[in-house]
This record gives sequence, structure tokens and C-alpha cells, in this order.
Amino acid sequence: MLTMPIPEYLQEILDNVHDNTSGEVADYIPELKAADPNPLAVALCTVDGHIYSAGDDSVEFTMQSISKPFAYALALQECGTEEVFKTVAVEPSGEAFNELSLDGENRPMNPMINAGAIAINQLINGPDSTVEDRVEKLRAYFSELAGRELTIDRGLSDSELTGADRNLSIAHMLRNYDVIADDAHDAVLSYTLQCSIKVTARDLAVMTATLAAGGVHPITGKTLLDARVCRLTLSVMASAGMYNEAGQWLSSVGIPAKSGVAGGLIGILPGQLGIATFSPRLNPKGNSVRGVEIFKQLSEDMGLHLMSTEQVSGHAVRSITQDGDTTYIRMQGAMNFSASEAFLHAIVSHEFSGDTVILDLSRVLTFHPVATRMIKEGLKRIRDAGYSVAILDPDDVLPDFTFSDGTLCRQLS
Ligand code: GLU
Repeated sequence: MLTMPIPEYLQEILDNVHDNTSGEVADYIPELKAADPNPLAVALCTVDGHIYSAGDDSVEFTMQSISKPFAYALALQECGTEEVFKTVAVEPSGEAFNELSLDGENRPMNPMINAGAIAINQLINGPDSTVEDRVEKLRAYFSELAGRELTIDRGLSDSELTGADRNLSIAHMLRNYDVIADDAHDAVLSYTLQCSIKVTARDLAVMTATLAAGGVHPITGKTLLDARVCRLTLSVMASAGMYNEAGQWLSSVGIPAKSGVAGGLIGILPGQLGIATFSPRLNPKGNSVRGVEIFKQLSEDMGLHLMSTEQVSGHAVRSITQDGDTTYIRMQGAMNFSASEAFLHAIVSHEFSGDTVILDLSRVLTFHPVATRMIKEGLKRIRDAGYSVAILDPDDVLPDFTFSDGTLCRQLS
């Protein structure tokens, strides 16, 4: 059986950032201040439900602000866009996450800052909901997205509530302007419990993949959100997900994202995949230092920048057929990360027979550099498993035929 190179690649990325111990864990919540700063994890989940991860991928941590886009999506799904827009705007604020601010119509600027998130939390489960019912609705919904029962870290929320003066002032401000109707203490309790739902990097990757896939859960295939809700959520994440670092983030990494003060970071590439990292030390803007580094590398290596103008492909593996002792793998379209992942996934799940494998690129249009590396790596692994491999490339779309070990792949004319 062949092995999948993506986890090895993810491990390499973790090795590259491992020694960067700059930044500080969040210190305004006592339990977070005492947290282990060392865990490091990365996880990906494609819209087809293939999950890859490396590092401390099963260590649990609290979602904190990463809960905001998911709560926003649920509010949009439950109440509709119009009502949600009446309560919270969609403009980047350029301010710190806990700024006391409203726009000209007395609405929080966006759902990614605390003012917006506290207001969004209050929309869940109707105006008459108790705090416990509202939080249970969120917990159950997040669990469905993650594909397992998530729990709440009540020790953490108690610890946060001992010093929640800032969020209480925000809630009082919201109540003063009739943005929320609940008692300020209940509003902050409800929001803080939402922030204290525990996840792993793998959970977050699966949760984000539903947003990437227009609301269809990558593993159960259930439709959990409307595609328009996902689009709107991703748009707000793109413009305001990284607080006052949002502009710089969009330029350098180029994917909708959200960070949390416990050290989690999620990113979503529409139509392709969800990504999550975990590393608790934060930069002065409140974003995970090593998480940001990992995302920069992934975006660069995997061609994930949303503003890049390359075509997105689908159904990249046209067919795998057998003719005597020869297996033909026919690829089609633009070869990007998803296309190469589909190729690798197809070959590791295929039972090869005979003695020769031919990769047919006659219907392939373009090769992103990541696809050149990944597809050649897959071919090399087939060769190393004992097959004679060759590439049919009548239009010369593959830039070179050299494997990572310096040997040359046979080309058919
Ligand atoms: N519960 C945290 C707060 O409201 C979340 C902040 C964050 O993750 O950015 O202060």
C-alpha cells in the first residue's frame, strides 16, 4: 500500500516553525495565562472529507473568538440576513477585538469583534431563550459540524468571568442602545460559555470544511448551512477575522480566517478546504505567532491565496483503467493543490496490478508548482512500489520530469 505524502509535508511545516517561541500566551484570562504554551498542531480537511494533520492534533483548547464565525453562520441560518444585518454591520473596524464602538446606526461594526459577537450570541434560539438553552444550541450545532460531541470548559469560563469587566461594559453599551435585550451579565455569560467550547485542531479543520463546501458537511454529506450563509460568513472573516491585522493578513495569506486568544487559528479556502492550527503564543495583535507562520507557508506552497487568478479544478482524476499489464491514470483540467490531492487520494486507494503505470496528461491544461511536486511525488511512490512509470504529455504541460531523488521519469511521445 502506498502512503500519503501530505502528512509528511505538514510535519515538515511544523518542524520549520517549531523553534519559534516568540510571543506570549494571553494573560487577561487567568486559566489561559497558566496554559501550556508549547502545543503545536496543523490540520486540513478537504471538501471531500479527507483529513490530514500533524503535531498535537488531538489536544483540546477553547475556541474563544473562533466560535464567532460559526455562531454568526448559525444566526444567519436561523434569523435570516435581514434581521442579522439590522443588529450587526459587516464593516471591518480596524480596532482591537474588545473595542467599545458602534457604527452610525448604533450597530456593532462586525460580528468578529466582541461587541458584534455578544450581539450575535443573543440572536441564537430566539429572544426568550435562557442562557443554558442558547449555549446548548450552539454546543450541539458546533458538535454536529465537528462530527463529535464537544464539551464546555466551565473552569475556563468561570476564570474569564472573574475579570470580564471589558465585555460587561460592551454588553451595557449594547443594552443602552437596544442592540440586546438581555441583562448584561447574562449576555456576557452566554457569550463566554460559547467561547469556552473545547475543540482540537482536527475538529476545527472539519468544522471549517463545511463552510468551505457551501454548507455541506464533508463527511456526513448533510446540508447544515445555505451556501449564501457560508459566503457571507467567509466574507466577514476575510475583511475582519484577524482584528486590526486583517488587511495585512489578506495581502500576505489571502484566505478568510479567524483567530482566538487560546491560540487557535482557522482559514477557509472556498470550494477547496478548511485549515486549522493551534499554538498558544500570540503576537501583539492577539494572533498565534506560529499559526500565522504556518498559514503563510501553506498559502505560498499550496497556492492558496484567494486573489491568485489561477483556475480552480474539479474531477481532476478523469479515470483509472487497466489494459493488460498497464494501468492508465487520466487527469484533466488545471492541476492545483486540490487536483493533486485528488490524484494522491486516488492512487493510495487504488489496488494496482500488472507492471506498468502511465499517467496521461493529454487533457491537462496547467500545472501549479505545488501540483508538479505532489503529482511527481505520487508517481515516484508508485515507481518505488515496483512499477514501471511513464508520463504521456503531448502538450508539454508538465514543466519537468525529474523526481525529487534526481532520477528522470520516462516520457512517452
Ligand atoms: N472570550 C474572549 C474574549 O471575549 C475571546 C477573545 C478572542 O479570542 O479574541 O475576551
